[in-house]
Amino acid sequence: MIRKGKTPRRPPPKKPSNNQKDPVGVYCRVRPLGAEDGECCVEVISSTTIQLHAPDGLKANRNGEFKETQYSFKKVFGIKTTQCELFEDVAKPLADDLIHGKNGLLFTYGVTGSGKTYTMTGSPGQGGLLPRSLDMIFNSIGPFQAKRFVFKPDDKNGMEVQNQVDALLERQKRESQQSVPKTPSSRQRVDPEFADMINPDEACKADDVDEDSSYSVFVSYIEIYNNYIYDLLEEAPMDLIKPKWNGAGTPLRHNTEFIPPQSKILREDQNHNMYVAGCTEVEVKSTEEAFEVFWRGQKKRRIANTQLNRESSRSHSVFIIKLAQAPLDADGDNVLQDKNQVNVSQLCLVDLAGSERTSRTRAEGSRLREAGNINQSLMTLRTCIEVLRENQMCGTNKMVPYRDSKVTHLFKNYFDGEGKVRMVVCVNPKTDDYEETMLVMRFAEMTQEVEVARPVDRPICGFAAGRRQRNQAFKEELSRRLEERGGPVDGEPPAALNQLLQSFPPLPASELSDPNDDHTIPRLIEALEKRHRIRQMVTEDYNKAANMLKSMLQDLDGNLMSKENFIQDQRGRLGEKDKMIQNQKNEIDRLEKKSKMLEYKIDILQKTTNIYEEDKRALQHELESRDHRLQREVSEKKRMEVRMHGLVTDEKLRWQKECERRVNAKELEMQNKLWVKDEKLKQLKAIVTESKTDSRPDQPQRPSREKDRVPAKRSASPSPVPTGPPVRPMHRRSHSAGAERWVDHKPSTNVELDTVMQPSVANAIKVSAPSEKALAKCDKYMLTHQEMASDGEIQTKLIKGEVFKTRGGGQSVQFTDIETLKQENPLGPSRKRTSSETGPNQEECKDGSWTDVETRCAVAVEMRAGSNLGPGYQNHGYSKRRKP
Ligand code: ADP
Ligand code: MG
Repeated sequence: MIRKGKTPRRPPPKKPSNNQKDPVGVYCRVRPLGAEDGECCVEVISSTTIQLHAPDGLKANRNGEFKETQYSFKKVFGIKTTQCELFEDVAKPLADDLIHGKNGLLFTYGVTGSGKTYTMTGSPGQGGLLPRSLDMIFNSIGPFQAKRFVFKPDDKNGMEVQNQVDALLERQKRESQQSVPKTPSSRQRVDPEFADMINPDEACKADDVDEDSSYSVFVSYIEIYNNYIYDLLEEAPMDLIKPKWNGAGTPLRHNTEFIPPQSKILREDQNHNMYVAGCTEVEVKSTEEAFEVFWRGQKKRRIANTQLNRESSRSHSVFIIKLAQAPLDADGDNVLQDKNQVNVSQLCLVDLAGSERTSRTRAEGSRLREAGNINQSLMTLRTCIEVLRENQMCGTNKMVPYRDSKVTHLFKNYFDGEGKVRMVVCVNPKTDDYEETMLVMRFAEMTQEVEVARPVDRPICGFAAGRRQRNQAFKEELSRRLEERGGPVDGEPPAALNQLLQSFPPLPASELSDPNDDHTIPRLIEALEKRHRIRQMVTEDYNKAANMLKSMLQDLDGNLMSKENFIQDQRGRLGEKDKMIQNQKNEIDRLEKKSKMLEYKIDILQKTTNIYEEDKRALQHELESRDHRLQREVSEKKRMEVRMHGLVTDEKLRWQKECERRVNAKELEMQNKLWVKDEKLKQLKAIVTESKTDSRPDQPQRPSREKDRVPAKRSASPSPVPTGPPVRPMHRRSHSAGAERWVDHKPSTNVELDTVMQPSVANAIKVSAPSEKALAKCDKYMLTHQEMASDGEIQTKLIKGEVFKTRGGGQSVQFTDIETLKQENPLGPSRKRTSSETGPNQEECKDGSWTDVETRCAVAVEMRAGSNLGPGYQNHGYSKRRKP
């Protein structure tokens, strides 16, 4: 029963009747093409659909993306639509809702020049939706309006009721302040420019206006520019108009100077509705007065735009019509003095800024920034609508960014709460606007998918209906009857009485002085009779009046009875409501308990979740560390692999080299052995033939078992061979100390060893095969001989000898010294072996045999030119000697 409803608000969650929703009503109006507008790109194809034709250039450019596109709306109004027709469909239901206590929002959207202002405001003779709405409101509530100042805005978006006396005092005070009445009350006083906005035949009226309520209309007019809110109805404060003086004594401002308007802020009232704080609300009593106020705001807007160099198409204007209504008291005379019974509904009429992108206007500098901001507002509007739609369609609960711009923030309650929202999309069909128009259409189509809660029907306070009329009728009846009776009862009783008394005939003198006086008594009788007759008449009149009064009282009694009945009835209803409240309280208790239970459960679940979360974190941590370890190991492995690979290749190379070296050494050794054997064989042969041919018995026979021994040094005993060519005793070259020349014989099969200690012989002829020529020039000979030692390592021997000239003219080498160079692997199997240990293949190098060889001075070979002993070893002999 309590109607606190004022401006739109959030739906109270427990209201079951408020879950009905209506989509935002989107209408499309196509204006006629202008004279210089060229081609048309919009076609109305039905009462709900339009088709956009892409200009040829665009069709070609965009791969057919922009072809003919159709857009559907609740209704489409073609170029021939009149303002009246548009009003009937679009704004009339909103005005009707307003009168029935419901809120509405109507905005025009479109590109600059598409007819938004024409649609909203119109022009003389063709008033737009705004003047028509005002007209309909006043036509409907006209006779039921409260006197001025009975309703009074409380500056917090609420409405108070003043008693008749306070209202009267305020009226008088205001009138005395303004010598000229500010608000004209008749059409004659209105500016002719907008006096005839509406044709009288087109006037309309709402049905079912609650006549037992009293109404008042308040209007506000604001402009939002660059995301600042300006009050267009604000009177400049007096001290701002007076010139101000600075310290130098010159006026700062003059009263002719333009004072830039102060911006306003948005506030939320106790019902969470947004309102412009400190915004002027003008109480108006007629269409003309309201429109005059609108025009005052328009003028102010125009002046501000010119003075501040603004672009008007970039501002949003909002005209707010607030309708306060409260029930009359039981007598149907005065507004019920109860603030809680006041219902305020409002209709917002918004002319939005041009929707085109910034690039369209050639704005620069601060203007561009402002334009950007305005675009920002429209962008926010689009975003809000998008999020709302998504939330509603997908059941999501995304935050709608109303607060990002003043426009959306101001209308937040319409989308969040209840009310009717309608949008007129204005279209200029010219081809130049094609792309912008397409964007407008897309936004409009999307907007249609947003739903807004339907406003609840609020029953008007339950006094007996029709009391305004009944009271009126009673008053009329009373005065009629009193008139019949000859004047108002509340005339002046003493005067009537006097009149009545005066109408009585005066009594004649009744003194009898003569017994025969027969005049006095009859005259007296006559006068008394007259008076008696008058008295009777008066009594009859009195009775009549008394009866009438009685019947009137009975009527009143009846009224009283009915009122009592009514009160009784109300009490009954109150009882019911009480019961309902009790039930609801119980329900609330139950729900509270349930919610506590649920909270408890949530708590537990939360704790469990926390534990799990912790577990999860720990596990994740472990997983991560294991992962790291694994990665480390993998990379370690890879590194190892690479290293091993390198090692393997190194080792392989080394072994390849090694094998080669060993093969060479073995080869060399075998060749040497072969050579030695050959040599022995030759020497044996020589001995045999010598012993056969030589008859000298003193020549000692060589023992055959010494065949594996190197024969005795020939130089030690002169050659005994008589059959051979005469051999000169060995002639050792004289060599001065330090001037020895060496033949450094390094067979090409030798392997290059990377040893640190390399033999180096100064003053040497380096040869890979010994030649007579080299030997002839030198007196010392050194053979670098490699062979495999018992441990498998290569052993290098430097076999040194002295060069002698032979009798036959050749060169002979007597080996005198062997230097052994040996490399050892510290880890290898040979580590433990001593140099005296030998492998099985070096049997002949055992200490004993070597000693033997040493003592016997090893080998002496006579070399002859042209003798062929084998490759690389032709011209030299060698002696083995163990190095100490
Ligand atoms: P907007 O406010 O969208 O920038 P306007 O309402 O100022 O556009 O319209 C631009 C011009 O087009 C105005 O001169 C207006 O009179 C004209 N116009 C707009 N709509 C119509 C219409 N439906 N019929 C006739 N003229 C129109
Ligand atoms: Mg405009």
